[in-house]
Amino acid sequence: MANALYDALFAPQASNENNFLTTPDADGEQALSYAGFMQLAAQYAGALTQLGVKPGDRVAVQVHKSVNALAVYAGCVQAGAVFLPLNTAYTAREVAYFVGDAEPAVLLCDAQAEAALQSVVANTGCSLQTLNADGSGSVSELARTQATQYATVSRSADDIAAILYTSGTTGRSKGAMLTHDNLLSNALTLVSYWKFTNDDTLLHALPIYHTHGLFVACNTVLLAGASMIYLPAFKTDTVLQQLPQATVMMGVPTFYTRLLDDPGLNRDTVQHMRLFVSGSAPLLAETHEAFEQRTGHRILERYGMTETNMNTSNPYDGDRRAGTVGFPLPGIEAKVCDPDTGDELAPGEIGMLQVRGPNVFSGYWRMPEKTAEELKADGFFITGDLATVDQDGYIQIVGRDKDLIISGGFNIYPKEIELLLDEQADVLESAVVGAPHPDFGEGVVALLVAKPGNSIDVESIRQVVSDALAKFKQPKVYRIVEELPRNTMGKVQKKLLRETVQTTFTTK
Ligand code: AMP
Repeated sequence: MANALYDALFAPQASNENNFLTTPDADGEQALSYAGFMQLAAQYAGALTQLGVKPGDRVAVQVHKSVNALAVYAGCVQAGAVFLPLNTAYTAREVAYFVGDAEPAVLLCDAQAEAALQSVVANTGCSLQTLNADGSGSVSELARTQATQYATVSRSADDIAAILYTSGTTGRSKGAMLTHDNLLSNALTLVSYWKFTNDDTLLHALPIYHTHGLFVACNTVLLAGASMIYLPAFKTDTVLQQLPQATVMMGVPTFYTRLLDDPGLNRDTVQHMRLFVSGSAPLLAETHEAFEQRTGHRILERYGMTETNMNTSNPYDGDRRAGTVGFPLPGIEAKVCDPDTGDELAPGEIGMLQVRGPNVFSGYWRMPEKTAEELKADGFFITGDLATVDQDGYIQIVGRDKDLIISGGFNIYPKEIELLLDEQADVLESAVVGAPHPDFGEGVVALLVAKPGNSIDVESIRQVVSDALAKFKQPKVYRIVEELPRNTMGKVQKKLLRETVQTTFTTK
């Protein structure tokens, strides 16, 4: 009897006494061996089974990052259940949508949220259980009474191991169904492409309800038998303290800008590091260069998404090019296509990025029509990202298709304008969005954040832009803002920005 993911990631570690993770905290360092973690996972598998979870049932988990939360993931895989992590920021009203949509057998929450979620699960048949960051809670109490061995439930490579809801920047959030093979194939690829071994120590400061912190980080570590410094969240001080003990860090771009803001980041702090990875949002070329100057490390930028795991990566050994996401990973195809005809475009042209490979999800939970719109019969998934490929094959993401601005009938890619604005001396970063315009349909609005201590002279920027870009692309309005709104994964929330500038051209 086989269980593809458990057999590859977890079972080989069952009697491994090496360190799996350390959790530094105020009381000193707690360490857990691989064998200890696997026993904990088996206890959670037992607890979930006792709560009535059967193979294929969803287990929704909205809890703070902890070792126990990770053991629930492993326990779900072992029990053949479908792990369904939820962003801790979701309100009870939002969780109600996920519970209604996914119909989980169990919902795990922090004790603080329990009262608010009682009404969400009422009359649904879903059992509400608590799991707190400190390891207390009803499910962990139940787990403690369970055996430390569990008979692994058989699952095939095509069975669903997890459902992750997309960030849902527009419309309803969709549940991406990820199979055992989707997760395993990507873990195998990343371990080999990024040269992970059991000598590695990953500094883990990402949330574990998202594909980046959960699958890219944890599955890779597990498969390689490496270890982790497992932090509850990203705090610059703690990360700088822990970096000298690590060999790899995976981060979102804001990790890197925050580290650069601290003079404590230097060559000594990173002396044992072999790899810094960035993804989930575009890394500014300026950040890439500043990081190299300060540390001697060229950040490796990669590109992926909830539905596909990781698709492309800059090379480990070759030239890591700032502003690009590198090449398709081995076994994965990527092509840039005309959004209307689907025909593949020539290098240098901008179009819709499509990807195909064993990493690509099997569809959206209970949304066959949405699935058919985005996952084509030939296996290519329409990512929704606009991209271009250069002559050397490096892929550059230029924006989401819904970020596209159409002004006076012309297509405008915000990224092109943002890159120019970001180059200006006083500008730290920028975002360009469209706002309804009575004549042009949409008008271009630029939001600028000044470098600390600098002030932005809008007139001189207007001049630079008018020298460099066609008139229709030039922002009609510039706004200086303190910062750009970002979600926890570091993505600039363009939807929010569009709402803020909504009436720019329509009110006097
Ligand atoms: P998520 O499903 O939350 O992981 O978001 C996936 C989206 O994040 C992708 O479709 C891209 O729009 C964006 N993304 C991820 N990695 C990168 C990257 N390296 N550069 C630019 N955008 C990225």
